[in-house]
Order: sequence, then C-alpha cells, then structure tokens
Amino acid sequence: MGRKAAARRRTALVTCQRTRKVRFRDHRQAIEALHRAANARKWSLLRGATTRRREQRAYPCGHCKGWHLTSQPLRLDLQTEDDMSLNENSNWEVEKCVAS
Ligand SMILES: [Zn+2]
Repeated sequence: MGRKAAARRRTALVTCQRTRKVRFRDHRQAIEALHRAANARKWSLLRGATTRRREQRAYPCGHCKGWHLTSQPLRLDLQTEDDMSLNENSNWEVEKCVAS
C-alpha cells in the first residue's frame, strides 16, 4: 500500500498543524470519536487486553477552529464548576487549546 492508496481512503484523517492532533469538524464528530474510543477500551478490557487509547475529553481548538481529543486531566483553573454543570453530558469538558 503506497501513499496514493492511503489518500484515497474515504475517511482520511485531517490533522491540526499546531497540535498535530486529529481534527474534528465540530463538537458532535469529536464526541462520536470519544464514544468509539470508549467502546474500544471497553471491548479490550473484556478480552483481557490493554489499550493505549485514553482519550477522555473533547475541546475546541483556537488554531484550526476544529475540535481535538485529549487524555489530559481537566484543568480546573480554566473553568468554574458552574460552567461545568451546564454540560448535560459529563463525559466531556471544554478546555482551551494550550500551545506547548
Ligand atoms: Zn487544532
């Protein structure tokens, strides 16, 4: 399989030039990816296997205007608890994209 074959794939992944992470077009796509990752983890555990997939949250990126997934712990200094309670789905929290 060469590069041409990979480029022709229907679900080619777009990455953010700033964060080098997979870029999702909107919040919904990011959440769907989170759920797929969670399911992959669950099935791996059932089979007694381990997985390196630890994506936990989605956050909007100010550089590419898209969304990324992160496994980093929630940075409470960026968000108040009142803001968090507005999210009916507690599986995700919003975090600023910090350039490193
Ligand atoms: Zn980005």
